[in-house]
This record gives sequence, structure tokens and C-alpha cells, in this order.
Amino acid sequence: MALATALGLFTPSANAFCRTKTCAAKGNPPCVIDPVTLCNTNGASVYWPVRSFKFWVDPLGSPKTGISGEAARGVLEQALAAWSSAACEGGPPSISVASVELMPDEDAVVLALSEPDGGTLSDPPFNTSVLTFVDQDSTLFLGGIIALTTVSFGTKSGRVVGADIEVDSANHALTLSDSAPSYDLLSVLTHESGHVLGLDHTLVDGATMYREYNGPNERDPLALRTLEADDIAGICEIYPPGRFDSGGCSCGLSARRTRAPLLALVVGCSWLGLRRRGTKQRFRARSGI
Ligand SMILES: [Zn+2]
Repeated sequence: MALATALGLFTPSANAFCRTKTCAAKGNPPCVIDPVTLCNTNGASVYWPVRSFKFWVDPLGSPKTGISGEAARGVLEQALAAWSSAACEGGPPSISVASVELMPDEDAVVLALSEPDGGTLSDPPFNTSVLTFVDQDSTLFLGGIIALTTVSFGTKSGRVVGADIEVDSANHALTLSDSAPSYDLLSVLTHESGHVLGLDHTLVDGATMYREYNGPNERDPLALRTLEADDIAGICEIYPPGRFDSGGCSCGLSARRTRAPLLALVVGCSWLGLRRRGTKQRFRARSGI
């Protein structure tokens, strides 16, 4: 009942958020795109089956843009908190981030750079969610992509087992500044955090999950830091308050146990940096174990 009430708060045009679907997965039926919302409508929806999860940050940060690992850690914490503190009907969403921590130096994330398609830490047996910066030119970001989120999930269930964010710090002047922002890192990471949590791009201009961001050329380069009604409707649908209240679900800490047999696909959500370069979302699919 609460969910129906919540959905009723939004007009159909505003309630256009898209959820990431399993339809792109190997062995699954092809995606079917809704002609109005451009959402994929085939397959299971992707979601974290847990109450909370942990995220790691490359301690090296981005020397090129002068953003330290610790600064990035704080920004990602803030970005994820924007989603977990959204005002759903009946309380905050039933998902949160247990902690955002710097990886130990000895595990510093060279891995994402050494792997042609990145995101290796999501692969079994690692299954660790990591934010890293790519300071040198990489084919990962061809076409003006600012950042790439790779979500790993069960191809049938849609249950997420890990996610990685890679940011193109080689070609974008990322900033932390409130007063003179360029490519505002908090805006970028708030958008990518939406992907981490299972949201796809929306057609609602102005929403955090809108598919394009022009950084310093935006009227308000900081605007994506704050969620709009469409974003909130999305996060509240995926993680309604009280999700674990009935049926005694005890799956809160089960992600690591479920990952191996489920993991078979990685889907990347790209964010195009320039409006003129098109709006097609790039999906990357590759086999897991
Ligand atoms: Zn995106």
C-alpha cells in the first residue's frame, strides 16, 4: 500500500526512471526498449539483495587532477548517501553503504588499468566494489564518456554482487569546488552511484540519472548532486522502506555466498560527456566464470 501511495505522488511524465535489466546478459532474451521511456523492459531488474554494502577507493586517487584518494573517498561517501537518505514514503530506502574505505596500498587499483575492459575487481573471486581514476588516455572512455560504472549481477536473478566505478580523469577537469566547478566530481559520482544501485538512464532532463552532463557548460554544474523526484521514485521502488520487514529475510550479509554461481555478466553504464555525441548507452557484456 505504501508503495502505491508513493508512486501516486509522481505524474507519469516525471516517473520515467529506468531500472537496469538483465536482458543484456548472455543466455537471456534480448532487451526490449519502451518507445516512450527508452527503458529496457525485458528481463529481471537489477538490485542489491542486502541491507548494506561496502565500497573501496583506490588510495592513489587522481594525481593528474590533484584529487587524493581520501578526498575521493569522502566524495563517494556523500554521493552514495544522497541515495540512501532519499525521502521515500515511509522512510529512507532499505539500502545503505556500510562504509567507504581506502584500499590498502598493497592492493592499489592498478588492476582496472591493466585490464582492457576494466573492472576486474568485480570478477570472482574478488567481488569487491572499487572506485578508481584513470589518469591516462584509455579506450574505455571513447566518445566523451566521463565515467563508467560496471555492475555485476546474477543473470537470472538480477541480484548485484559488486560494482566498480572508473572515472576518466585524463580528459576531464574534475573538481571538488563548490564555487568554481568544472566537471564536478560529486555530481559525477552521484550519477554513477545511481547505476551502482540499479538505476539506468532516464529521459527526465534535470534528474541526476539523466544521460548527459556537460560539466562546466551546464547552467548549474552542481545540480546533479541533489536527487530529483524521478531519481527518488526510482530508488524508492528498488529499495522500499521495510523491504526486510516481512518474511524474516536474513539475506543481509549473503552477497558473498551467492556471487559465484550467479555471476555471469557485467553490464557497464556509460555517461556521455557531450550532448552532441549522441545518447546511446554503451553496454559491455563479458563472461564471468
Ligand atoms: Zn550513466
